Amino acid sequence: MICLGIESTAHTFGISIVDDKGKKVLSNVINAYKTTKGGLIPAEVADHHVEVLGEVLSQSFDKAGIKPEQVGLIAFSQGPGIGHCLRIGAGTARSLALLLKKPLIGVNHCIAHLEIGRFLTKAKDPVLLYASGANTQVIAYEAGKYRVFGETLDLGVGNFLDSFARELELGFPGGPKIEEYAMQGKKYIKLPYSVKGMDISLGGLQTNLSQKIKSGHYSKEDLCYSVQETVFAMLVEVAERAMAHTGKTELLLGGGVACNKRLQEMCRLMCEERGAESFVLENQFFIDNAAMIAIAGLEMFKAGMSTNVEEAGIRPYERTDQVDVKWR
Ligand code: AMP
Ligand code: MG
Repeated sequence: MICLGIESTAHTFGISIVDDKGKKVLSNVINAYKTTKGGLIPAEVADHHVEVLGEVLSQSFDKAGIKPEQVGLIAFSQGPGIGHCLRIGAGTARSLALLLKKPLIGVNHCIAHLEIGRFLTKAKDPVLLYASGANTQVIAYEAGKYRVFGETLDLGVGNFLDSFARELELGFPGGPKIEEYAMQGKKYIKLPYSVKGMDISLGGLQTNLSQKIKSGHYSKEDLCYSVQETVFAMLVEVAERAMAHTGKTELLLGGGVACNKRLQEMCRLMCEERGAESFVLENQFFIDNAAMIAIAGLEMFKAGMSTNVEEAGIRPYERTDQVDVKWR
């Protein structure tokens, strides 16, 4: 079956076409809203999505080389996310489902980050370390649900890195710039390390870093290096504890921060030390993308799930463990 997936939880509007026969991602087109200064204003991001959706849709069909009639299922990200943005994706999905007379399925965005890993790698039952802009969670399947074993108590790690980079005047998005500077870092600067049980907290570290930047005593390179070592160690610690608790032997990375090679290396080392395996994806499948929505939608539909057009609203605050997992 061929599924068309739509992603629009935040800055990224994407449409992907996936054929579950042979597990082929036929197209995965995204157009992400960018700013040169400041953050996201929901209404402006929604305007961006409306502007680009026609182009993204036709590009996705062109790249996939299929006709709309060949699509058997429409999947869309239903939540969690920014209401203004979610509404554009949901509206597009409902229109397409009615127009093409095809079934519709609403997908949880966080769970989709995990399902794409199960689809594209050999991982069967991984713990997901999901580190993106707004979200930072450790998620795994346990007793019939996807459960959050640990998460950030304040900032998402990507947003934290972006605001740290802004203070260092490295531009946006900050993560890739920090990674570059970190490679030139020579000295580890001691920073607050804040793991609370299964959760992490980044607010105190953020304040501490502001003070260090203002003092002018430290090089950008050493600060970036030290931030990566500290924050990634916190992530790896909670991910490892979730693996120990659940007895799972696979770790999957997800979210834009997972593009970071040092984080990938630290996860690989942790897994090697405990006889587990760590799985990484291509960057296009780490960042927000619609292929993961199509893939999760296919899994759900095959298990008999679907969403009526009349009930296909958005769920901006949906929690991972609220989803009824019928497909596993
Ligand atoms: P997402 O919200 O999943 O699309 O991820 C976006 C976040 O990923 C932004 O905060 C970026 O700064 C961050 N990011 C992207 N590439 C990297 C990288 N190489 N290292 C660290 N963070 C990154
Ligand atoms: Mg995401």
